[in-house]
Amino acid sequence: MSTYDKPLPELTEENRPFWDSLRERSTLSLQRCDACGHIRYPVGRVCPECLAPGATWTDVSGGGEVLSRIVFHQVYNQAFADDVPYNVVLVQLDEGPRMFSNVVGIPNDEVQVGLRVRLHCDPVTDEVTIPRFIPEEP
Ligand SMILES: [Zn+2]
Repeated sequence: MSTYDKPLPELTEENRPFWDSLRERSTLSLQRCDACGHIRYPVGRVCPECLAPGATWTDVSGGGEVLSRIVFHQVYNQAFADDVPYNVVLVQLDEGPRMFSNVVGIPNDEVQVGLRVRLHCDPVTDEVTIPRFIPEEP
């Protein structure tokens, strides 16, 4: 794991609970607005629905559906040169938020809009576990 040379997220006090839940518990945890209950992602200081600042970290199911998909053939960053072609998907989580990620475990041409997926935790360094997705039904 120490040889991972791709871009990594910057861990901050604000987003650390998100990354810790993935690393420690293989669980997706998102902010639920204390005022209106809206579950938000990406991590933010205020609710995009009601602008209230308070939120509580809440585990979500990790289930969702592929809303959009694309396959990258071009190398835009040399760190990903060995990965092309690879897919990038927008997952509609069951709890509402949408998340850019990858579907792993199946060929790119089987990653279709509407595919049901579930969370797949990919530990890439000691500190960072990346949330990816696998098909709900293998
Ligand atoms: Zn709110």
